Amino acid sequence: MPIESMAWLNAPWERIRQMFAENRLPHALLLTGEQGVGKRIFADELAALLICDRPDIASGNRCGSCKQCELVSAGTHPDIRRYAPEKSRMIKIDQIRSLAGFAVASPQVAARKIAMIDRADQLNINSANALLKTLEEPADDVVLILLQESGRPILPTIRSRCQTQNLPTPNMEQARIWLDQKLDELDPDARPDQNQKARALRLAANAPRLALEYLTEDFLSVRDEAFDQFRRFMKGQVSVGEAAKPFKTLGLEASLWLFEGWAADLARLGAGGVARDEQASDMLDFLAKNNPVWRAHELIDLIHESRSAGVYNVSVELEASRLLIAWQKLMPVKRAG
Ligand SMILES: [Zn+2]
Repeated sequence: MPIESMAWLNAPWERIRQMFAENRLPHALLLTGEQGVGKRIFADELAALLICDRPDIASGNRCGSCKQCELVSAGTHPDIRRYAPEKSRMIKIDQIRSLAGFAVASPQVAARKIAMIDRADQLNINSANALLKTLEEPADDVVLILLQESGRPILPTIRSRCQTQNLPTPNMEQARIWLDQKLDELDPDARPDQNQKARALRLAANAPRLALEYLTEDFLSVRDEAFDQFRRFMKGQVSVGEAAKPFKTLGLEASLWLFEGWAADLARLGAGGVARDEQASDMLDFLAKNNPVWRAHELIDLIHESRSAGVYNVSVELEASRLLIAWQKLMPVKRAG
């Protein structure tokens, strides 16, 4: 099994391998799962298996030495194409038109073609409609692999034409083992300590790819700065413009993700649970004690709104400011006297 180190993906891999072995692989497969559980790695391995000239169907391994495998290893296989959101954060209709052309053309070197749509939840309405044609009348020699992040909606007309395979989130032990293996490949000086590792896994809710990103891209320190400014803004110590600055460094996706995590923690605390983000726990606990739990859900809704607005080129600072102001309304009003 090619993704042996990702033990939590073994069951879904086995299910798809079996479909492949029995020649009943669907034309369109929708892989769903939380951010950072390994959807892309899974899709890449699957594409490599499907394109190999001599796959070992019983074990689910590609041969590794045929012409196809060589091209896959070099990352230059002409019959595998990826369509991902560009700068606008959406998959554009031009990209889907290009996919449609690719899907009906003859494969160049392999027996079939693989088209991946990385973040099918980022198709705008026009792109989704354009994709429908390809999904409705797929050529025999094309497999579409769509990736969707949990909690991000995808049009039902798209979903109903795909076979869905959920990729589960690992437990903490599985996530830690995988993360350790990846970190061992780093320069010893660049390796994070146990505390940082535990923290990254907790913040990523055990999604190991995400935790790795946190540890290798300086996310933790920028996140700390963002939280610090957030806290100071709540206390009235800095202006909203000042508080929004570190969020600009993080970018829209990561900022919204942080705000969503804090709002979810607020809801958890309000319901008598514990916060995932230990550092924010004190402040969130204070807010939870001073607000009804629906305020947390209201914040979550607001974040979802920001996310759908994110399809247009909104300014990160503006969105962060809007959310910060909404949060500040949760602070109890000090009475004079
Ligand atoms: Zn091969």
